[in-house]
Amino acid sequence: EHPDIDRAKLATNAYIRPELLGKRDRQQIGIENATILMLTRNWELPGVLDAMRSLEDRFNRDYKYPWTFLNDEPFTDDFIEKTSLMASGKTEYGLIPEEEWSKPKWINDTRMQESMDKMVEDDVIYAGSLSYRNMCRFNSGFFYKQELVKKYDYYFRVEPNVEYMCDFQYDPFTLMRKNGKLYGFIITIHEYEATIPTLWDTIEKFMDKYPEYIHENNAFEFITNKDIIGNIGLNVNSHSRYNLCHFWSNFEIGSLEFFRSKAYNDFFDFLEETGNFYYERWGDAPVHTLAVSLLMDKNKIHYFDDIGYYHEPFLSCPTSNMLKTNNRCICKKNTKTIDLTPHSCLSRWWKFGSGRNFLKEF
Ligand code: GDP
Ligand code: MN
Repeated sequence: EHPDIDRAKLATNAYIRPELLGKRDRQQIGIENATILMLTRNWELPGVLDAMRSLEDRFNRDYKYPWTFLNDEPFTDDFIEKTSLMASGKTEYGLIPEEEWSKPKWINDTRMQESMDKMVEDDVIYAGSLSYRNMCRFNSGFFYKQELVKKYDYYFRVEPNVEYMCDFQYDPFTLMRKNGKLYGFIITIHEYEATIPTLWDTIEKFMDKYPEYIHENNAFEFITNKDIIGNIGLNVNSHSRYNLCHFWSNFEIGSLEFFRSKAYNDFFDFLEETGNFYYERWGDAPVHTLAVSLLMDKNKIHYFDDIGYYHEPFLSCPTSNMLKTNNRCICKKNTKTIDLTPHSCLSRWWKFGSGRNFLKEF
Protein backbone atom coordinates (compact mmCIF):
# COMPACT_ATOMS: atom_id res chain seq x y z
CA GLU A 1 0.00 0.00 0.00
CA HIS A 2 1.04 3.56 -0.70
CA PRO A 3 2.32 5.26 2.47
CA ASP A 4 -0.16 8.13 1.98
CA ILE A 5 -3.03 5.70 2.30
CA ASP A 6 -1.68 4.48 5.61
CA ARG A 7 -1.33 8.02 6.84
CA ALA A 8 -4.85 8.89 5.72
CA LYS A 9 -6.22 5.84 7.45
CA LEU A 10 -4.36 6.64 10.62
CA ALA A 11 -5.61 10.20 10.64
CA THR A 12 -9.15 9.11 9.92
CA ASN A 13 -9.15 6.53 12.64
CA ALA A 14 -7.76 9.03 15.07
CA TYR A 15 -10.69 11.34 14.51
CA ILE A 16 -13.65 9.08 13.97
CA ARG A 17 -15.26 7.86 17.14
CA PRO A 18 -13.96 4.33 17.61
CA GLU A 19 -17.46 3.24 18.62
CA LEU A 20 -18.69 4.06 15.11
CA LEU A 21 -16.02 2.21 13.15
CA GLY A 22 -17.16 -0.75 11.17
CA LYS A 23 -20.77 0.36 11.25
CA ARG A 24 -21.03 1.12 7.54
CA ASP A 25 -22.40 -2.18 6.45
CA ARG A 26 -24.23 -1.80 3.16
CA GLN A 27 -26.47 -4.77 3.91
CA GLN A 28 -27.91 -3.60 7.20
CA ILE A 29 -31.60 -3.44 7.82
CA GLY A 30 -33.30 -1.02 10.16
CA ILE A 31 -34.33 -2.56 13.43
CA GLU A 32 -35.97 0.40 15.12
CA ASN A 33 -39.66 1.16 15.37
CA ALA A 34 -39.31 4.35 13.40
CA THR A 35 -40.51 6.22 10.34
CA ILE A 36 -39.31 8.97 8.06
CA LEU A 37 -42.05 11.58 8.14
CA MET A 38 -42.91 14.19 5.56
CA LEU A 39 -45.76 16.67 5.55
CA THR A 40 -46.16 17.94 2.03
CA ARG A 41 -48.37 18.99 -0.87
CA ASN A 42 -48.91 17.25 -4.21
CA TRP A 43 -47.35 20.06 -6.22
CA GLU A 44 -44.11 19.75 -4.24
CA LEU A 45 -43.46 16.30 -5.77
CA PRO A 46 -40.21 17.20 -7.61
CA GLY A 47 -38.70 18.57 -4.38
CA VAL A 48 -40.04 15.58 -2.45
CA LEU A 49 -38.25 13.21 -4.84
CA ASP A 50 -35.03 15.22 -4.56
CA ALA A 51 -35.09 15.03 -0.78
CA MET A 52 -35.97 11.33 -0.85
CA ARG A 53 -33.19 10.55 -3.30
CA SER A 54 -30.70 12.31 -1.03
CA LEU A 55 -31.78 10.60 2.19
CA GLU A 56 -32.14 7.22 0.54
CA ASP A 57 -28.64 7.36 -0.94
CA ARG A 58 -27.00 8.73 2.18
CA PHE A 59 -28.84 6.59 4.70
CA ASN A 60 -32.07 4.78 4.17
CA ARG A 61 -31.28 2.43 1.29
CA ASP A 62 -29.18 0.50 3.78
CA TYR A 63 -31.97 0.35 6.36
CA LYS A 64 -35.27 0.58 4.46
CA TYR A 65 -37.23 2.46 7.08
CA PRO A 66 -40.82 3.20 6.05
CA TRP A 67 -41.83 6.65 4.84
CA THR A 68 -45.01 8.31 6.08
CA PHE A 69 -46.47 11.15 4.02
CA LEU A 70 -49.11 13.49 5.43
CA ASN A 71 -51.24 16.04 3.64
CA ASP A 72 -54.32 18.17 4.26
CA GLU A 73 -55.56 17.05 0.84
CA PRO A 74 -55.56 13.51 -0.62
CA PHE A 75 -52.32 12.58 -2.38
CA THR A 76 -52.63 12.05 -6.12
CA ASP A 77 -51.93 8.73 -7.81
CA ASP A 78 -48.92 10.30 -9.48
CA PHE A 79 -47.49 11.39 -6.12
CA ILE A 80 -48.06 7.95 -4.63
CA GLU A 81 -46.56 6.09 -7.57
CA LYS A 82 -43.39 8.20 -7.83
CA THR A 83 -42.66 8.37 -4.11
CA SER A 84 -43.25 4.68 -3.55
CA LEU A 85 -40.80 3.91 -6.34
CA MET A 86 -38.23 6.29 -4.88
CA ALA A 87 -38.46 4.74 -1.42
CA SER A 88 -36.48 1.66 -0.42
CA GLY A 89 -38.96 0.81 2.31
CA LYS A 90 -42.73 0.84 2.33
CA THR A 91 -44.67 4.10 2.04
CA GLU A 92 -47.91 5.17 3.68
CA TYR A 93 -50.09 8.18 2.91
CA GLY A 94 -52.28 9.91 5.46
CA LEU A 95 -55.00 12.54 5.20
CA ILE A 96 -55.03 14.99 8.10
CA PRO A 97 -58.43 15.37 9.83
CA GLU A 98 -59.94 18.73 8.96
CA GLU A 99 -60.11 20.09 12.51
CA GLU A 100 -56.39 19.49 12.89
CA TRP A 101 -55.71 21.67 9.87
CA SER A 102 -57.98 24.64 10.46
CA LYS A 103 -58.26 27.48 12.93
CA PRO A 104 -60.46 26.68 15.93
CA LYS A 105 -63.96 28.18 15.76
CA TRP A 106 -63.33 30.47 18.72
CA ILE A 107 -60.57 32.36 16.89
CA ASN A 108 -61.71 35.95 16.34
CA ASP A 109 -61.44 36.50 12.59
CA THR A 110 -61.35 40.28 12.80
CA ARG A 111 -58.54 40.21 15.30
CA MET A 112 -56.64 37.68 13.21
CA GLN A 113 -57.05 39.67 10.00
CA GLU A 114 -55.92 42.89 11.67
CA SER A 115 -52.81 41.32 13.07
CA MET A 116 -52.03 39.66 9.74
CA ASP A 117 -52.34 43.02 7.96
CA LYS A 118 -49.99 44.59 10.46
CA MET A 119 -47.46 41.79 9.98
CA VAL A 120 -47.69 42.12 6.20
CA GLU A 121 -46.91 45.83 6.55
CA ASP A 122 -43.90 44.91 8.66
CA ASP A 123 -42.67 42.48 5.99
CA VAL A 124 -42.79 39.46 8.26
CA ILE A 125 -42.23 36.23 6.35
CA TYR A 126 -45.51 34.30 5.70
CA ALA A 127 -47.32 37.17 7.49
CA GLY A 128 -50.56 36.87 5.57
CA SER A 129 -50.68 33.11 5.14
CA LEU A 130 -53.39 31.12 6.89
CA SER A 131 -52.13 27.79 5.58
CA TYR A 132 -48.67 28.49 7.02
CA ARG A 133 -50.29 29.05 10.41
CA ASN A 134 -52.24 25.80 10.06
CA MET A 135 -48.98 24.06 9.22
CA CYS A 136 -47.12 25.47 12.25
CA ARG A 137 -49.99 24.55 14.57
CA PHE A 138 -50.19 21.07 13.04
CA ASN A 139 -46.46 20.49 13.46
CA SER A 140 -46.71 21.71 17.04
CA GLY A 141 -49.69 19.74 18.28
CA PHE A 142 -50.94 17.18 15.82
CA PHE A 143 -48.27 15.40 13.79
CA TYR A 144 -47.73 12.81 16.52
CA LYS A 145 -51.48 12.18 16.88
CA GLN A 146 -51.94 11.01 13.27
CA GLU A 147 -53.30 7.49 12.85
CA LEU A 148 -50.33 6.35 10.70
CA VAL A 149 -47.79 7.75 13.16
CA LYS A 150 -49.25 6.17 16.30
CA LYS A 151 -47.48 2.86 15.87
CA TYR A 152 -43.95 4.32 15.88
CA ASP A 153 -41.50 5.27 18.64
CA TYR A 154 -39.29 7.65 16.62
CA TYR A 155 -39.70 9.94 13.62
CA PHE A 156 -37.23 11.59 11.30
CA ARG A 157 -38.71 14.76 9.83
CA VAL A 158 -37.93 15.54 6.21
CA GLU A 159 -39.05 18.41 3.98
CA PRO A 160 -39.11 18.76 0.20
CA ASN A 161 -35.87 20.06 -1.36
CA VAL A 162 -33.59 19.36 1.58
CA GLU A 163 -30.23 17.69 1.11
CA TYR A 164 -28.01 15.52 3.30
CA MET A 165 -24.36 16.21 2.64
CA CYS A 166 -22.62 13.12 4.13
CA ASP A 167 -23.06 9.36 4.41
CA PHE A 168 -24.64 8.35 7.67
CA GLN A 169 -22.13 6.14 9.45
CA TYR A 170 -24.76 4.58 11.68
CA ASP A 171 -28.48 4.29 12.22
CA PRO A 172 -29.52 7.55 13.94
CA PHE A 173 -32.62 5.91 15.41
CA THR A 174 -30.46 3.26 17.09
CA LEU A 175 -28.17 5.97 18.37
CA MET A 176 -31.19 7.69 19.91
CA ARG A 177 -32.58 4.56 21.53
CA LYS A 178 -29.33 3.16 22.87
CA ASN A 179 -28.31 6.45 24.39
CA GLY A 180 -31.73 7.42 25.68
CA LYS A 181 -31.89 10.49 23.41
CA LEU A 182 -35.30 12.04 22.85
CA TYR A 183 -34.59 14.92 20.45
CA GLY A 184 -31.94 15.39 17.76
CA PHE A 185 -31.08 18.50 15.75
CA ILE A 186 -28.45 19.81 13.33
CA ILE A 187 -28.99 23.54 12.86
CA THR A 188 -29.89 26.03 15.56
CA ILE A 189 -30.55 29.71 14.76
CA HIS A 190 -32.43 32.79 16.00
CA GLU A 191 -36.16 33.15 15.35
CA TYR A 192 -37.79 36.27 13.86
CA GLU A 193 -38.97 38.15 16.90
CA ALA A 194 -42.02 39.60 15.13
CA THR A 195 -43.56 36.12 14.77
CA ILE A 196 -43.61 35.39 18.51
CA PRO A 197 -44.01 38.68 20.46
CA THR A 198 -45.88 37.09 23.41
CA LEU A 199 -44.59 33.51 23.26
CA TRP A 200 -42.15 33.93 26.15
CA ASP A 201 -44.81 35.59 28.33
CA THR A 202 -46.93 32.53 27.77
CA ILE A 203 -44.03 30.22 28.58
CA GLU A 204 -43.44 32.05 31.86
CA LYS A 205 -47.10 31.61 32.76
CA PHE A 206 -46.84 27.93 31.87
CA MET A 207 -43.81 27.54 34.14
CA ASP A 208 -45.74 29.21 36.98
CA LYS A 209 -48.74 26.97 36.49
CA TYR A 210 -46.87 23.69 36.01
CA PRO A 211 -43.57 23.88 37.92
CA GLU A 212 -43.63 20.08 38.22
CA TYR A 213 -43.12 19.76 34.46
CA ILE A 214 -39.88 21.73 34.36
CA HIS A 215 -36.96 19.29 34.36
CA GLU A 216 -34.26 19.92 36.96
CA ASN A 217 -31.53 19.45 34.36
CA ASN A 218 -33.20 21.61 31.70
CA ALA A 219 -31.60 23.77 29.00
CA PHE A 220 -32.97 27.07 30.33
CA GLU A 221 -29.63 28.78 29.89
CA PHE A 222 -29.54 27.82 26.23
CA ILE A 223 -32.83 29.63 25.48
CA THR A 224 -32.46 32.66 27.76
CA ASN A 225 -29.95 35.45 28.02
CA LYS A 226 -29.41 35.51 31.72
CA ASP A 227 -25.76 36.18 31.11
CA ILE A 228 -26.01 38.72 28.33
CA ILE A 229 -26.79 42.37 28.96
CA GLY A 230 -28.35 44.11 26.02
CA ASN A 231 -31.47 44.37 24.00
CA ILE A 232 -31.51 40.95 22.41
CA GLY A 233 -34.59 38.96 23.21
CA LEU A 234 -38.02 39.73 24.52
CA ASN A 235 -39.61 41.07 27.70
CA VAL A 236 -36.97 43.41 28.97
CA ASN A 237 -38.90 43.94 32.19
CA SER A 238 -39.46 40.35 33.16
CA HIS A 239 -37.05 38.23 35.15
CA SER A 240 -35.90 36.22 32.18
CA ARG A 241 -35.90 36.69 28.42
CA TYR A 242 -36.03 34.39 25.45
CA ASN A 243 -32.95 34.82 23.29
CA LEU A 244 -34.82 33.50 20.20
CA CYS A 245 -32.54 30.47 19.80
CA HIS A 246 -34.35 27.49 18.36
CA PHE A 247 -33.60 24.13 16.82
CA TRP A 248 -34.44 24.40 13.13
CA SER A 249 -37.25 21.88 13.05
CA ASN A 250 -37.24 21.09 9.34
CA PHE A 251 -34.61 18.52 10.44
CA GLU A 252 -35.63 16.60 13.51
CA ILE A 253 -35.13 13.11 14.81
CA GLY A 254 -37.35 12.75 17.82
CA SER A 255 -39.08 10.48 20.26
CA LEU A 256 -42.82 10.30 19.67
CA GLU A 257 -43.24 9.20 23.26
CA PHE A 258 -42.01 12.60 24.37
CA PHE A 259 -44.57 14.41 22.22
CA ARG A 260 -47.33 12.07 23.42
CA SER A 261 -46.50 12.78 27.06
CA LYS A 262 -48.97 14.55 29.32
CA ALA A 263 -46.41 17.26 29.93
CA TYR A 264 -46.00 18.10 26.24
CA ASN A 265 -49.74 17.98 25.59
CA ASP A 266 -50.51 20.27 28.53
CA PHE A 267 -47.79 22.53 27.13
CA PHE A 268 -49.34 22.57 23.66
CA ASP A 269 -52.88 23.09 25.00
CA PHE A 270 -51.66 26.00 27.11
CA LEU A 271 -50.17 27.63 24.00
CA GLU A 272 -53.18 26.81 21.83
CA GLU A 273 -55.57 28.54 24.26
CA THR A 274 -53.93 31.89 23.56
CA GLY A 275 -54.94 31.73 19.88
CA ASN A 276 -51.50 33.00 18.97
CA PHE A 277 -50.80 30.34 16.39
CA TYR A 278 -53.20 32.61 14.44
CA TYR A 279 -53.07 36.09 16.01
CA GLU A 280 -49.28 35.98 15.99
CA ARG A 281 -47.48 33.43 13.85
CA TRP A 282 -45.90 31.05 16.31
CA GLY A 283 -43.65 28.55 14.53
CA ASP A 284 -43.35 24.91 15.44
CA ALA A 285 -39.58 25.33 15.73
CA PRO A 286 -39.60 27.67 18.76
CA VAL A 287 -42.53 25.71 20.20
CA HIS A 288 -40.66 22.41 20.01
CA THR A 289 -37.46 24.04 21.20
CA LEU A 290 -39.01 25.63 24.27
CA ALA A 291 -40.75 22.39 25.20
CA VAL A 292 -37.65 20.29 24.70
CA SER A 293 -35.44 22.79 26.54
CA LEU A 294 -37.71 23.02 29.58
CA LEU A 295 -39.46 19.67 29.93
CA MET A 296 -36.55 17.43 29.01
CA ASP A 297 -33.23 16.51 30.59
CA LYS A 298 -30.82 18.45 28.37
CA ASN A 299 -28.59 15.39 28.11
CA LYS A 300 -31.37 13.76 26.12
CA ILE A 301 -30.97 16.32 23.35
CA HIS A 302 -28.51 15.23 20.69
CA TYR A 303 -26.60 17.41 18.28
CA PHE A 304 -25.93 15.46 15.08
CA ASP A 305 -22.58 16.99 14.18
CA ASP A 306 -21.57 14.55 11.46
CA ILE A 307 -24.48 14.34 9.01
CA GLY A 308 -24.38 17.62 7.09
CA TYR A 309 -27.65 19.20 6.01
CA TYR A 310 -29.01 21.86 3.68
CA HIS A 311 -32.41 23.55 3.75
CA GLU A 312 -32.52 26.80 1.91
CA PRO A 313 -30.88 29.17 2.74
CA PHE A 314 -28.69 27.48 5.36
CA LEU A 315 -26.04 24.80 5.15
CA SER A 316 -24.43 22.90 7.96
CA CYS A 317 -21.49 20.75 7.01
CA PRO A 318 -18.82 19.20 9.23
CA THR A 319 -15.76 21.44 9.38
CA SER A 320 -13.28 18.67 10.02
CA ASN A 321 -11.62 17.50 6.83
CA MET A 322 -11.16 14.05 8.30
CA LEU A 323 -14.84 13.71 8.99
CA LYS A 324 -15.80 15.12 5.60
CA THR A 325 -13.50 12.71 3.80
CA ASN A 326 -14.47 9.67 5.80
CA ASN A 327 -18.21 10.31 5.44
CA ARG A 328 -17.95 11.23 1.74
CA CYS A 329 -19.44 14.66 2.38
CA ILE A 330 -20.17 16.92 -0.57
CA CYS A 331 -20.61 20.37 0.94
CA LYS A 332 -22.14 22.92 -1.39
CA LYS A 333 -19.56 25.04 -3.11
CA ASN A 334 -19.87 28.74 -2.40
CA THR A 335 -22.19 28.17 0.54
CA LYS A 336 -20.74 28.84 3.94
CA THR A 337 -21.74 26.65 6.84
CA ILE A 338 -24.10 28.56 9.12
CA ASP A 339 -22.62 27.16 12.32
CA LEU A 340 -19.77 29.62 12.66
CA THR A 341 -21.84 32.75 11.94
CA PRO A 342 -23.52 35.07 14.47
CA HIS A 343 -26.94 33.91 13.26
CA SER A 344 -26.25 30.44 14.64
CA CYS A 345 -26.89 29.47 18.27
CA LEU A 346 -24.51 26.54 18.11
CA SER A 347 -21.78 28.07 20.23
CA ARG A 348 -24.42 28.75 22.85
CA TRP A 349 -25.45 25.10 22.67
CA TRP A 350 -21.84 24.03 23.23
CA LYS A 351 -21.64 26.28 26.26
CA PHE A 352 -25.02 25.77 27.91
CA GLY A 353 -26.57 22.71 26.30
CA SER A 354 -25.13 19.27 26.50
CA GLY A 355 -22.44 20.31 23.98
CA ARG A 356 -20.87 17.38 22.28
CA ASN A 357 -22.03 14.77 24.68
CA PHE A 358 -20.09 11.62 24.01
CA LEU A 359 -22.22 8.63 23.48
CA LYS A 360 -22.37 6.11 26.25
CA GLU A 361 -23.17 3.16 24.12
CA PHE A 362 -22.98 2.59 20.41
P1 GDP B 1 -40.47 26.97 5.59
O1 GDP B 1 -39.43 25.89 5.62
O2 GDP B 1 -40.72 27.54 6.93
O3 GDP B 1 -40.22 27.99 4.55
O4 GDP B 1 -41.88 26.29 5.20
P2 GDP B 1 -42.20 25.16 4.13
O5 GDP B 1 -42.96 25.76 2.99
O6 GDP B 1 -41.00 24.36 3.80
O7 GDP B 1 -43.24 24.26 4.93
C1 GDP B 1 -42.82 23.40 5.97
C2 GDP B 1 -43.32 21.98 5.71
O8 GDP B 1 -44.74 21.95 5.71
C3 GDP B 1 -42.90 21.41 4.37
O9 GDP B 1 -42.70 20.02 4.52
C4 GDP B 1 -44.09 21.69 3.49
O10 GDP B 1 -44.19 20.75 2.45
C5 GDP B 1 -45.24 21.55 4.46
N1 GDP B 1 -46.37 22.45 4.17
C6 GDP B 1 -46.39 23.81 4.20
N2 GDP B 1 -47.61 24.28 3.89
C7 GDP B 1 -48.40 23.21 3.66
C8 GDP B 1 -49.78 23.04 3.27
O11 GDP B 1 -50.54 23.98 3.12
N3 GDP B 1 -50.23 21.75 3.13
C9 GDP B 1 -49.40 20.66 3.31
N4 GDP B 1 -49.92 19.44 3.13
N5 GDP B 1 -48.11 20.79 3.66
C10 GDP B 1 -47.61 22.04 3.84
MN1 MN C 1 -39.05 24.26 4.53
